[in-house]
Amino acid sequence: MSTCPLPKGTGIASGAILSPANRLECLQKPMPRKCLSEDAILKKIADSSRPSWGRVAGQSVDLCIGDDAALFRPKLGHETILTCDWFLEGTHFLRQRHPPDAVGWKCLARAVSDVAAMGGIPRCFLLSLALPETRTGRWLDLFLGGLRRASRKFQCALAGGDTTQRNEILINVTVVAEVRAGSAVLRSGARAGDIIHVSGRLGEAELGLQILRRSQRASSKKNPLTRKHLYPEPRLALGQWLVKRGLATAMMDLSDGLSSDLPRLCAASAVGALLVEARIPQVRSPDVALSHGQDPRHLALHGGEDYELLFTVPPRKAKLLPKSFRGVVLTAIGRITRERELLVLEKNTGARRLNAGGWDPFGKKQ
Ligand SMILES: [Mg+2]
Repeated sequence: MSTCPLPKGTGIASGAILSPANRLECLQKPMPRKCLSEDAILKKIADSSRPSWGRVAGQSVDLCIGDDAALFRPKLGHETILTCDWFLEGTHFLRQRHPPDAVGWKCLARAVSDVAAMGGIPRCFLLSLALPETRTGRWLDLFLGGLRRASRKFQCALAGGDTTQRNEILINVTVVAEVRAGSAVLRSGARAGDIIHVSGRLGEAELGLQILRRSQRASSKKNPLTRKHLYPEPRLALGQWLVKRGLATAMMDLSDGLSSDLPRLCAASAVGALLVEARIPQVRSPDVALSHGQDPRHLALHGGEDYELLFTVPPRKAKLLPKSFRGVVLTAIGRITRERELLVLEKNTGARRLNAGGWDPFGKKQ
């Protein structure tokens, strides 16, 4: 990999995201009206990312676009966080239901949420994109619009990637982020007695998905009920604040659902947990949930893709935690226990075992 002489803030060259070994097959076929060449697709992607690229590059990321690979230089005294995330048509989104700009926003938001869960600061990302010829026109434009908004919002610049042709849309995003050396919050730090907290309300994204599935057409970003599913907001500022104040002993983001994710945190920390069901913050509109055949309590325990933060705080520090952070409610929902079992305390029936009921790509279809 050679060093790129481009100065910081230079725009992306049109060939920045190019793997010569993976030429689009459509180059060898007669082109339908909307089929673009790979070079044209790359130019589109590069053009759409240019402003956000310059802004972030001017800060602390030293990247090289337009070469075989990008260069990244972490800030002094910081560690690099690396994470990647699949976002697949038919598995994570539906072409007929999910607006393309929501697909663009969400593919980056999901990956950035893992950075929030470490208390890190996103710096740049790589995009691997496979799509059909017929999606290289308006669909791609709208997708890139959503991706660009997310890139700006999360201050995470496009640094490179790869593209190819495929019958279904496959997206993989790799995020590079930073955190001050030694200060990342891991899943493994929870101790018996720590208070378990969550940000936001749980189950809203799952409710949004259920509403979207039942609707006759694609949803818009203006619909508040589907918004959390389509345009999740990773809790970057909260994660960074918790790191700065040294309040969290363990942390992760809630991507698969509380009942599936909490056991992972507990296993990493070699502890158990006791949740108080009545304290788990539920969807804002329980009546709407019920009208769609969804139990708000079930949604809060098992609903996936909220991308809220689950974190533990020692009891002596719990009073330092505000009730909300930048408009997002923070709620104590239980405590960490020495016994390695997961229990939920219900109002009438007492404690019962918490069974994982969230998203599992290898489990039965949901
Ligand atoms: Mg995660």
